Amino acid sequence: MTCAVISTRLGVKVASAACRCFHTEPVRHESSALPIVHHSKYVCDLPPNHRFPMAKFPRVLHHLIKDQVITEKQVWLPEIASEDLLRCVHTEEYLNNFIGGKTNEQEQRRTGFPWSEGGTVLAAEAALQRGLACSTAGGTHHAFPSYGSGFCLLNDLAVAARYLMGNSSTKRKVLIVDLDVHQGDGTAFIFQEEPDVFTFSVHCGKNFPVRKQQSDLDVSVEDGLEDKEYLSTVEAHLPWLLETFRPDLVLYDAGVDPHRDDELGRLRLTDRGLYQRDLYVMKSVVSRGVPLAAVIGGGYSRDIDVLAARHSIVHRAATQVWRECGM
Ligand SMILES: [Zn+2]
Repeated sequence: MTCAVISTRLGVKVASAACRCFHTEPVRHESSALPIVHHSKYVCDLPPNHRFPMAKFPRVLHHLIKDQVITEKQVWLPEIASEDLLRCVHTEEYLNNFIGGKTNEQEQRRTGFPWSEGGTVLAAEAALQRGLACSTAGGTHHAFPSYGSGFCLLNDLAVAARYLMGNSSTKRKVLIVDLDVHQGDGTAFIFQEEPDVFTFSVHCGKNFPVRKQQSDLDVSVEDGLEDKEYLSTVEAHLPWLLETFRPDLVLYDAGVDPHRDDELGRLRLTDRGLYQRDLYVMKSVVSRGVPLAAVIGGGYSRDIDVLAARHSIVHRAATQVWRECGM
């Protein structure tokens, strides 16, 4: 047995804290092709040997254009996430002290994080309009309301989910499918009392974080898992989740750190395995008429080009889904 469901949790109806999120005008975009959300400000300056490969974000777009998977016309440009938007998830104190207080506005912009947040929100909005959309960043699932963790300062999945849930009259149900090799602990914690957001995480049990949170569905897998078993693990859960929870939107964290060459991953998936996984997830969701927004999630390699090419797998799979589903 290579995997085991370690916990499921029944949603408990608890009113969520008042959220000062506001909804803007619907976004318009000329191209009718698959929306790709990208901004050049996704990067920031980190020390040369820093473990977080920040430079990967622009390289993902570069690979997609170079290989003619997409054209520049498909790129949707996000706005920087406002503090009001971030307050949907993060505490006032954290935002003031850590994000705002200790850095001036210019430095704050340079961190790349508020841009990435805005990118995930825009990808979700684009998905609601067009059925499917992908960001070239995002998936900072370890960030908690009042502190950052594991290279994640702000939780873009949580901000986007809460923003897109909408208000009481048009409330949407959001399913977060987190297939990054690490548990989406921040996201699980943020939505533990929120019945309208279902958090589903497939992760390597022996990997970071040591102390796991409880998602609505956690599937913990063992070290060394390969393509076939991994895919059957996802296949064993996703269809019934979609049928029973019936989400209005799916946020998909397509982390590539389950890859066999990932420096932090511990699993043994191949490029082909990741492609099959992404194709399966997106097809299962989109073919049921449910919109899906994908973010790239984690991936660690000192070779930025190899890593960026690996991250572009999800956009390539999305392009196939877009074509095959006649979107
Ligand atoms: Zn990860």
